[in-house]
Amino acid sequence: MDPRIAIEVKNLGKVFGDIRALDEFQLQIRTGEIYGLIGPNGAGKTTALRILATLLLPTSGTATVFGLNVVDEAAEVRKHLTYLPEEAGAYKNLSGHEYLEFMTKFTIRNPAERKEVVEAAAKISGLGDRLRDKVKAYSKGMKRRLLVARTLMTRPKLAILDEPTSGLDVLHSVHVRGLIKEYVQRHGVTVLLSSHNMLEVEYLCDRVALINQGRIVAEGSPSELKTRYNAPNLEEAFAKVVSVA
Ligand code: ATP
Repeated sequence: MDPRIAIEVKNLGKVFGDIRALDEFQLQIRTGEIYGLIGPNGAGKTTALRILATLLLPTSGTATVFGLNVVDEAAEVRKHLTYLPEEAGAYKNLSGHEYLEFMTKFTIRNPAERKEVVEAAAKISGLGDRLRDKVKAYSKGMKRRLLVARTLMTRPKLAILDEPTSGLDVLHSVHVRGLIKEYVQRHGVTVLLSSHNMLEVEYLCDRVALINQGRIVAEGSPSELKTRYNAPNLEEAFAKVVSVA
């Protein structure tokens, strides 16, 4: 296993009945990198993330996370990652604080360490005193911030984030992006995320894959892609790629 490689995907395919969600999908993500998947609705982003998070089985091909096969060694893979689903809920009758405490009970035995992690998560969420309120009283954006905090708090080796800022207003999106970036720099976490927000991807990601109809149609750093397609921003680069694909 090469420690510089966090994720390696080869010829991954996923079929749902007549729908080919992923087709010869190939990817290599370096350790410590923030890597973004972007593409239109139904392109296959969530399918790829769920396979890598060991929540969905591929139809063909292979994928490894830190050298571990996501199908044959799924339990081991899960120890190294956390996953933020696109549409996630939290236990509505717990307070935000209780929810964070509850989530650490599965992974951290030491009470002092658990307290430290919950405190860090409280800070990440930016929810302040509202953490005392029940989750059912939270807005969509507040729930998202709680869930992002839960995903990052245990400092996983790999965080898989499906549309991390979905439902957040501009200021809170900026807050969450800043946190992700800071976390990666400080703790060397590898992040794989999906997004529809090209500005977000440009700000956050070291490298990006443009996905269309289950295939990667272009890959590179945001600035490489803009230069390659002579586009002022990623949105236009993507439009150019898709129009010639
Ligand atoms: P979005 O940006 O809208 O979230 P996406 O890029 O994440 O889209 P996926 O959710 O991966 O796209 O879906 C890829 C394709 O696979 C779509 O055509 C979708 O309808 C199909 N698909 C995904 N999950 C299932 C499922 N459980 N059963 C049947 N089809 C599915």
